[in-house]
Amino acid sequence: MSNYETVIGMECHAELLTESKMFCGCANEFGGAPNTRTCPVCLGLPGSLPVMNKLAVELVLRTALALNCQVSRDCLFARKNYFYPDIPKGYQISQYDDPIGHSGYLDITLEDGSSKRVHIRRVHLEEDTGKLIHAGGNESEVDYNRSGVPLMEIVTEFPPDLHSAEEARAYLEKLRTILVYLNVSDGKMEEGHLRAEPNLSIRPVGSDKFGVKTEIKNLNSFKSVFKGVQYEVERQSALLDEGGVVRQETLGWNDLRGETYHMRFKEEEQEYRYFPEPDLVPLHFHDADIEAARAALPELPDAKRERFVTQYGVRPYDAAVLTSSRSVADFYEAAATDGVDPKAIANYVTGELARLLNASGQDITQTKVTPAALRDLIVLRDSGKITNGVAKTVLEKMFETGQSAPEIVEAEGLAAVDDEGAIAAEVDKVLEANPDVVAKIKAGNDKSMAFLTGQVMRATKGKARPDVVNRLLADRIK
Ligand SMILES: [Zn+2]
Repeated sequence: MSNYETVIGMECHAELLTESKMFCGCANEFGGAPNTRTCPVCLGLPGSLPVMNKLAVELVLRTALALNCQVSRDCLFARKNYFYPDIPKGYQISQYDDPIGHSGYLDITLEDGSSKRVHIRRVHLEEDTGKLIHAGGNESEVDYNRSGVPLMEIVTEFPPDLHSAEEARAYLEKLRTILVYLNVSDGKMEEGHLRAEPNLSIRPVGSDKFGVKTEIKNLNSFKSVFKGVQYEVERQSALLDEGGVVRQETLGWNDLRGETYHMRFKEEEQEYRYFPEPDLVPLHFHDADIEAARAALPELPDAKRERFVTQYGVRPYDAAVLTSSRSVADFYEAAATDGVDPKAIANYVTGELARLLNASGQDITQTKVTPAALRDLIVLRDSGKITNGVAKTVLEKMFETGQSAPEIVEAEGLAAVDDEGAIAAEVDKVLEANPDVVAKIKAGNDKSMAFLTGQVMRATKGKARPDVVNRLLADRIK
């Protein structure tokens, strides 16, 4: 048991889903040949003037409201001055005082089912920087395609509410889900569209002083957030146990080695000398705009989860899985229409279908199985026309080919065997072939019954109704 308490603050950056960049008409897209999406504005050439992207402002407002923030009626943009090759102007346009959103919160659910409120300090808008490409040797190149892309920063409150790697990961997962629900970010962490920067300190349990913190830059997966935090907790604990001191530093994360590495000490960091951006007018939000944006918010994951439990009667755990992604929730609702058991649909979406998607690396939006086709499969199974085991096989075929369940059942002769005479014949064969098992059952070993059922199911290629098989077996052995 550790003698330390971990304290974690999180800064997250999300690239916004706009067509164009923050202050110019260049396309906001990922990838492409370096420096093909640039203009005098996003390259910061002398004499160029920024023009505000209204949609970017609206997306940040939407996020702020979804994160239960208060909105600053007036906000200024500021120049954050620093010299680095990825920032051609020598400053980044950001927000300093009066961010668009402040003083909000977000509730996370932990593995033990408990929930926790994480307070949000600010949600603001800024522009992304270019990207350095280390070409090997002493060469470095810069790609400015990302320069000027609208970037939202979300910072948790101090003192921090997060105290473990699990909590840090749960926070990021929930935040990502909300951003995708809101359609403000595609949440593609592997493309750097959502990046997390935890800052972390430890202190003796019971202490009210904060330890020296380190910051891990640009983590782009849930796993790296979890492992990065865990690694830092262990590293700092070991250091303090040895009587050492933690130095305030900025760290990078090496995913392959699973460890942090030193980037720079905090004292080397410069003073940003923020001052108001003179080329942009201040933002002002009218109450009516804020209320209109609030009214237009989509149903968020927590509300959707609760509704699924009451409306469809699914278990809270399944409801959480179904609403962890908006596209999964939409798929589920499209399938769970009248005339079918919504719990059976939930089982298939969170079970068999999820397994197939996972194995093939597909997203639910990419599968050939439509919600209506899944519904038809369940209806077929619930009517007794196919057995449960066969239904799983049929789903695999549907997944592969995009054919409907009735088509597959027809073409492959998979309809359930209703003919008791045919099943009885198979039962007799199995009993004859397994006299020792029959003897065991007669001696009171009921568990061996499952073996015989399995044999009959195999002989009928899973098409015999298991209840009929069990009844016939029991009748004959008695
Ligand atoms: Zn541009």
